[in-house]
Amino acid sequence: MQFPEPKLKQTAHFQRNGFRKVRYLNGLELKVDGDESQLYRYDGTVDSIPEHLISVLQEFGYKVKNKGELRRTWNVLTGYCRHLLVQQEDYSGRLSIPFYRSVSPELDIFNKGHEDMHAIQHLGLISAFGLIEKRLLSIGFHLNLGDFGTEDQANIAGIMRVVEEGYDPTVLIRHSPINGSYESMKQSRG
Ligand SMILES: [Zn+2]
Repeated sequence: MQFPEPKLKQTAHFQRNGFRKVRYLNGLELKVDGDESQLYRYDGTVDSIPEHLISVLQEFGYKVKNKGELRRTWNVLTGYCRHLLVQQEDYSGRLSIPFYRSVSPELDIFNKGHEDMHAIQHLGLISAFGLIEKRLLSIGFHLNLGDFGTEDQANIAGIMRVVEEGYDPTVLIRHSPINGSYESMKQSRG
């Protein structure tokens, strides 16, 4: 989901050896082959998106001045999921941190897949696109992810996970951006 970034420069000094190159994306249940610069930490379910965001920002040395405002506005704006990309100061490493707030089984599965697609985009895990397209094809959707923008790609990956887990994606349709992505998926059916 598209939400405004906090006005902070997302570069930080962090220990590379504290994080592993990405081998597996938890939310998409997808094996990937990241290199030394492609780092991933899955924070999973959190009680509050703004509180978790503040704590992660502080963990990486950001001074969060407007905590009250962040809590207030982000509780309204962020909804359910969040993705933080932290660049190492010398730009030699990118760390992707997805997390989400649990709402309903379908939306949880959707959020995990959605945020992991953003990890793929941010980290530049090129080979993952083909793997996702194959999985889409196996459930009847013939799509070229390159034809879509980043939010649609993330929605498509989230809906894919919902279908894979045996849930009906139409329950998500009241979230209108998801609906548009699902319409594109349905049109791709042969
Ligand atoms: Zn998104």
